[in-house]
Amino acid sequence: MANFEYDLVVIGAGSGGVRAARIAASHGARVAIAEEYRVGGTCVIRGCVPKKLLVYASRFHGDFEDAKGFGWTIPEARFDWPTLIANKDNEINRLEAAYRSTLARWKVETIASRAVVTGPNRVRFISSDRQVTARTILIATGGHPEISVITPGHELAITSNEAFHLKAQPRRILIAGGGYIAAEFAGIFAGLGTDTTLLYRGDQILRGFDQDLRDDVSAAMSKRGVKIVTGRTITSIGKTSDGLAATLSDGTELVVDQVMYAIGRQPNTLGLGLETAGVELKSNGAVIVDAHSRSNVPSIYAVGDVTDRVALTPVAIREGHAFADTAFGNKTWHADHTMIPTAVFTEPEIGTVGMTEAQARAMFETVDIYKTRFRPMKYVLAGRDERMLMKLIVDAKSDKVVGCHVLGPDAAEIVQMAAIAMKMGATKSDFDNTMALHPSAAEELVTMRDKWVPPSV
Ligand code: FAD
Ligand code: NDP
Repeated sequence: MANFEYDLVVIGAGSGGVRAARIAASHGARVAIAEEYRVGGTCVIRGCVPKKLLVYASRFHGDFEDAKGFGWTIPEARFDWPTLIANKDNEINRLEAAYRSTLARWKVETIASRAVVTGPNRVRFISSDRQVTARTILIATGGHPEISVITPGHELAITSNEAFHLKAQPRRILIAGGGYIAAEFAGIFAGLGTDTTLLYRGDQILRGFDQDLRDDVSAAMSKRGVKIVTGRTITSIGKTSDGLAATLSDGTELVVDQVMYAIGRQPNTLGLGLETAGVELKSNGAVIVDAHSRSNVPSIYAVGDVTDRVALTPVAIREGHAFADTAFGNKTWHADHTMIPTAVFTEPEIGTVGMTEAQARAMFETVDIYKTRFRPMKYVLAGRDERMLMKLIVDAKSDKVVGCHVLGPDAAEIVQMAAIAMKMGATKSDFDNTMALHPSAAEELVTMRDKWVPPSV
């Protein structure tokens, strides 16, 4: 151990890297962490956190509309994009400083530099051209928006990275993609008053989510003003006197102020030197690791988005924590990738955990479905014609609840709690035996008694 300058060098100070560095240091390891951009990584700097702040901003639109039914007279509301962006930036600066001071408190050396791997136990910090030795190297470099689109004019488009820093709010935006980022940003821009078109190549957005959720969220987003165009892609983008003209695969043209691509993210391994060290990568550049996040090179580990397992912040954090405890704390465990709850912060929002109905039907002999669509109490006086969806998927044989899907206000908060019960193996009877909390929307999850029967039966 004494032969190495560091016990651990972490490359990338994002969710996974920071947690791993801090925990390894708490176990007594000598740790350095290299960051080429800003400490905090994608989630804090240009992901979850600034996104959620923009989501909050966008939701006032609906709140102002709903307030009328409760007796409020709201003068015509005006929104100022530069104020929101400046306040968001202040909060991100505060969080970055908090991350830096946490690392300093644990005596982790933070190195402001791009780092590359030069061997199984060697890392070079580019800014100082200093090469150091490390007993263990952790790759926690995350990912970046997909930019390998060969559409002519794609360089005129932005990604989520730039969306957080636009000088002015676009009057009209075209967002390409149908996943988390496209759906969330469509909701943000539409809520803030931008004329928003969401363009998805398939027939329904949010592939991989439960079909009822997909259908209902798409319908609700359309009702709230997002124009959802399916079955088409962008074939070219050009400049016009009035903005950008995007030509679609059906030949139609759309003139907007911004085109945003949200068509997936790729692992950050290009030029990282991993091939030199003999580390095996997937065809998309992701580091191949085992359950303990170890690569085929015993001294090199990887956690978070760069491994292309589950690209969510809590997952990266837990993988980093498990790695550090295992490698430096004499406490062997690994992150459990089952029953991971997730939310899509659209308006209305999605919260989901476990299997979709289709996945459950493929896995179990008999599946019982419980689902309800209802108007949340707040929407009655508000006069808002929007339904909340709650759906439980049950393996009939074991009675276990294997999927829970919610669309509507506070879906993320509701599903986080349901996930605890489901992770513990709760059955439908356990849900039924739980007293309802009234009046709430979540109480529907413990009061659904009748199995859903397809209309045709
Ligand atoms: P990152 O957080 O990406 O950190 C990697 C760090 O490594 C970066 O700071 C990068 O600059 C640095 N780096 C890269 N290469 C080098 C190098 N060679 N040398 C030095 N430094 C380097 N997840 C959720 O759970 N909930 C959400 O609501 C959510 N919203 C999101 C919204 C958006 C717009 C995006 C893009 C992502 C969102 N995510 C969300 C996903 C989440 O941000 C990621 O899963 C998480 O940040 C992954 O953490 P990580 O540690 O793997 O990598
Ligand atoms: P996703 O993988 O969620 O979605 C990518 C979308 O782009 C899909 O609709 C896909 O279509 C489409 N697509 C892919 N390639 C092309 C192409 N060449 N042309 C047109 N469309 C294309 O990626 P995101 O970028 O939205 O997000 C990345 C990840 O970050 C997420 O998967 C998630 O793990 C994480 N994230 C989490 C959030 C949260 O927790 N709330 C929020 C934001 C991001 P198809 O479905 O047909 O393949």
